[in-house]
Amino acid sequence: MGLQPQSTVDGPLFDANDAPEEIVVARGGRDFRMSWTDGSKAETGAEQLRLRCRCAWCTRARADGEFPNAFEDVAIVAIEPFGAHAAHIRFSDGHDRGIFPWTYLRGIATGAAEAAVRPRG
Ligand SMILES: [Zn+2]
Repeated sequence: MGLQPQSTVDGPLFDANDAPEEIVVARGGRDFRMSWTDGSKAETGAEQLRLRCRCAWCTRARADGEFPNAFEDVAIVAIEPFGAHAAHIRFSDGHDRGIFPWTYLRGIATGAAEAAVRPRG
């Protein structure tokens, strides 16, 4: 938060090339597909995104050991741009605090975020 679209963000946090050219939400919000200008495509599911939400609430729940292992049938209700670097995703379980940087979303969809997420348990 607090990042401004005009500012230059260095490092791996945000790569402008990770902002997708197109987003498709299918299967009633359960599938999430992105495609980029370089021709690459990747797909993930609403549950995978919900499980990887990094908002303060979810981070706290994980630390307290109260974060669910699954979100069955959760769907994406809405996706809105959040500045230039991220998307704000609303889920059907009512959770709407998640801000997902494009770099993080791309990492999740391509599997690259797996290693980064796992060690936290
Ligand atoms: Zn969250």
